[in-house]
Amino acid sequence: MKITRFDGGHIGVVKDDKIYDVSAACGVDPGEWPPVGIVKVIGSWETFRPKIEAAVNAGTGKPLSSVKLQTPDPWPNKLLALPSNFRDHHEEMRGRSYATPGGVTDEAAGFFMKANSSMIGASEAIAVPADKPDREFHHECEMAIVIGKRGRHVPVEKALDYVFGYACLIDVTMRGKEERVMRKSYETFCPVGPWITTADEVGDPFGLKMQLWVNGQLRQHSTPGMMIVGIREAIAMSSAVTTLEPGDIIASGTMAGVGPLKPGDEVVIEIDRVGKMTLPVVAAKA
Ligand code: MN
Repeated sequence: MKITRFDGGHIGVVKDDKIYDVSAACGVDPGEWPPVGIVKVIGSWETFRPKIEAAVNAGTGKPLSSVKLQTPDPWPNKLLALPSNFRDHHEEMRGRSYATPGGVTDEAAGFFMKANSSMIGASEAIAVPADKPDREFHHECEMAIVIGKRGRHVPVEKALDYVFGYACLIDVTMRGKEERVMRKSYETFCPVGPWITTADEVGDPFGLKMQLWVNGQLRQHSTPGMMIVGIREAIAMSSAVTTLEPGDIIASGTMAGVGPLKPGDEVVIEIDRVGKMTLPVVAAKA
């Protein structure tokens, strides 16, 4: 199933180029604040799933192109992210002025966090800060791993049981020496979407093709199987430190090919069987 949010907080299921409003079946008021309805749905998925499927079967749906897609899971307890995490990106960053200092290998690099408020959906735009004309802002092609159930000290061999689903994620980053969390937390710096595709529909995630284009040019591509800290290991590592909660997001880290984004660019990210989104880059209002 592909589940997301649209048009001011409605919960939607996407099927055959149509979107079905399942807000009522989810018991979600689209105007709720904080917008945690989807977290509750993910946390009680076995209860909600049959109600949602019944609502889709009884509904007529709207053309997907007629709605504004929002990020599916805007208020997780945590948005964790793995730094670098693909050998080829580690190599391309080596020696750059803004590379992380020291000899920390990706296996030992742990995780960082991005502000939840940096997330946007598939119908929104990446806004580059207008007051930083001398700085570089890069795209990082990543996959969002969305957690489905609470977990602490999850063993590697059980980790995939904790995955609710997957989404495309772009970890937009201002290069520089400031704390990573700040450089990656500007408003709009974390497109996640266009929906969460549930793990049962994705199947084996390790061979999925992850691709990112800027202005039609392929800039990054790899598969989750090439992650240094793999999907299962990332869940084990983060749950050894924190309690993972339903709706938590772990960003996979990125592969080689990162590069600048400028106002006027168009970015496309696609992950097989997960989804695809196209976002314009604009200058943020000062
Ligand atoms: Mn990243």
